[in-house]
Amino acid sequence: MNASNGFDRWHAEAAQLDAEDPLGHLRAEFAIPKHHDGTDEIYLVGNSLGAQPLRARAAVVAELDDWSNDGVRGHFTPPTPWVSYHELLVDGMAGLVGAMPSEVTLMNALTVNLHLLLISFYEPTPERHKILIEEHAFPSDHFAVESQIRQRGYDPATSLITVPPRPGSELLDVDDIEAAIAEHGDSLATVLLPGVQYYTGQVLPIRRITNAAHAVGARMGWDLAHAAGNVPLSLHDDGVDFAAWCTYKYLNSGPGGVAGAYVHERHHDDQSLNKLLGWWGTNGATRFEMANDFDPIPTVDSWHISNGAVLTLAALRGALEVFDLAGGIEPLRAKSRLQLDLMDRMLAAEFGGRVRSITPTPFDERGCQYALEIVDPDADGRAVFEHLEAHGVGCDWRYPNVIRVAPVPLYNSFGDIAEFGRRLNAALDAS
Ligand SMILES: *Cc1c(COP(=O)(O)O)cnc(C)c1O
Repeated sequence: MNASNGFDRWHAEAAQLDAEDPLGHLRAEFAIPKHHDGTDEIYLVGNSLGAQPLRARAAVVAELDDWSNDGVRGHFTPPTPWVSYHELLVDGMAGLVGAMPSEVTLMNALTVNLHLLLISFYEPTPERHKILIEEHAFPSDHFAVESQIRQRGYDPATSLITVPPRPGSELLDVDDIEAAIAEHGDSLATVLLPGVQYYTGQVLPIRRITNAAHAVGARMGWDLAHAAGNVPLSLHDDGVDFAAWCTYKYLNSGPGGVAGAYVHERHHDDQSLNKLLGWWGTNGATRFEMANDFDPIPTVDSWHISNGAVLTLAALRGALEVFDLAGGIEPLRAKSRLQLDLMDRMLAAEFGGRVRSITPTPFDERGCQYALEIVDPDADGRAVFEHLEAHGVGCDWRYPNVIRVAPVPLYNSFGDIAEFGRRLNAALDAS
């Protein structure tokens, strides 16, 4: 194939779309990682670690300054007292996941939050002891669930149910998930699934599956690692029992950033739920009296154990401001629709027989991430990935033959997509 000229038309169309993009100015809110020649990378790996919002840095520096000036008094010094710092983020975070502020908090890391929530929402009995997940769940989720089952004295061999994709497909079939839920019915305690599957980018219908779990009396939890900040969510209205997500992917809080947790308000007053307690879950008005009576905060905050990691909360606070500037997730989705359309047409026109997208094509079945399988019989997939990385494309590699790329509407331009096409073409030719 013709190396570069063939992509001029994609660049021309992208330039037009960038000129018309009402959100294009948001790219200047980010530090885009640099290639070694000093140019901006074609950074398409926000599904793994979002680019740095300049406001995240500023918010962290502000708290470092408070620390240097006020020391321990910073815990109580307005306008951003550290004792309640996470509360400054709750409205913005709740808006992005479609929850009430009392249902959302920020604490710990994702897998830790899954454990804490499974302590409450996986209550096995000899009759009802199973957890249903997907067969190719993110390993950390799989490990968490297996260890929770063992911890309660049950055996994953009989208590862990996994739903596979259909033979010949990487995608989950929602009918199969519903059928498995119905099949295990009375013996099913909890269902835990991803809002967006990390490998394929498939979006699962949260309300439909939550209803199916509730219909058999099971609790429904969602891992939103690849969904939060990527697709619209309505956890409260969908009746979801619990959810957790990391914030360093599409929410751009930085490496190891503090995680999110959600518990539906109908569970907030339920004192019969098993819960691991710590001093940050008790009433803030009496916390520092240091008495031994636990007085649970009447929100999801009663799941808090430790005082907040203020520096990473600050980074997330700055990052969430950029979503406010965008006007929330809907305008970003509208831009994403155009970006996916450009990418789809370019893949079909230029890469037929060489690259296949595993990701579903209907808009409501995917977020912004592609899983691109290298099917060109003459190309070595791993070499294609390495060529891309060496030529300034940020992407990631997933065994056995998949390159994941995510045009993130907050900071990726349409031009990034056209340039990705040009460099992918060169990488395939070279490999
Ligand atoms: C990214 C990701 C994780 C990472 O877990 P941490 O506890 O943040 O290290 C876990 N599960 C899923 C589905 C993920 O996508």
